[in-house]
Amino acid sequence: MKNITVIGSGTMGNGIAHVFAQNGYNVQLIDINPQALEKAVATITKNLDRQVQKGILTEEQKTAALANLKTSTDMKAAAAQSDLIIEAASENFDVKTSIFKQLDDAAPANCILATNTSSISITKLAAQTKRADKVIGMHFMNPVPVMKLVEVIKGYHTSDEVNDSIMSLSKAIGKVPVLVEDYAGFVANRILLPMINEAIYTLYEGIGGVEEIDTVMKLGMAHPMGPLQLADFIGLDVCYSILNVLYDGFGNQKYAPCPLLEKMVIAGDLGVKSGRGFYDYSHGGKELIVAKNFK
Ligand code: NAD
Repeated sequence: MKNITVIGSGTMGNGIAHVFAQNGYNVQLIDINPQALEKAVATITKNLDRQVQKGILTEEQKTAALANLKTSTDMKAAAAQSDLIIEAASENFDVKTSIFKQLDDAAPANCILATNTSSISITKLAAQTKRADKVIGMHFMNPVPVMKLVEVIKGYHTSDEVNDSIMSLSKAIGKVPVLVEDYAGFVANRILLPMINEAIYTLYEGIGGVEEIDTVMKLGMAHPMGPLQLADFIGLDVCYSILNVLYDGFGNQKYAPCPLLEKMVIAGDLGVKSGRGFYDYSHGGKELIVAKNFK
């Protein structure tokens, strides 16, 4: 595989494009929004600069990575020249369905269609195409250039050959892939989100405050950040929607989102992206919200 197309140039798409370009692949980064593409190239350039400053890359390797990267709003033209397409557009089933149908029409018959979805069934997306054996999940972690894991998710019809080639490719770009089955939340979010939800319940029930809960998990379990700070980082709306996917997928009450999480999402306190969640980010850094009882 040499020609990789990444659909969606947001947080994840620009990171995925960065890693493939850095490893010598021809990358076409696609978005419906030209401004998102400009922003993505600026972000990739800034992140490559940081790697040069840290001695991870040379200036020549940075220049070569940028030369490997092209951007466009023409998804079908890019698809027609691709060996692998990784979809990292917005987490919306209708958006992804439309993209997969168009890719299936435009891409060569042997092209693999991967998705970076956090929560949508790979099997369901594969069913929108005439090549279910070549549809697979490649769930990268944020920030992509730093995080080693790729959760590779096989759909019901994904062939062993496609599983093997995506596992090998993930290793070739310096990642550690793990192959898992296609059930709600896969492995990462099935374990992570109930932990975050439980932390929110612990706050909601008044067992501990934000600082106490995050300190227990950081110092007691050696987590690099506490679950409430992590929820702010992921986005409380995203946490809420993934918990609902788990709840719907398994029909088990244990996945039901905590009422406090639901209330904060309705109130617009979504974490880092809105400037406030369990912590206040409106002054740049992370500050405790002292006079708040989270009820
Ligand atoms: P984002 O909102 O930052 O970026 C999405 C991009 O997709 C936007 O630039 C948007 O313009 C573009 N887009 C929307 N519709 C499109 C279309 N039809 N064609 C082309 N581009 C289109 O989102 P993100 O956080 O990068 O998430 C992308 C995917 O990655 C989602 O499926 C999400 O669940 C998954 N994911 C996110 C994270 C994370 O931490 N943010 C982690 C793992 C997986």
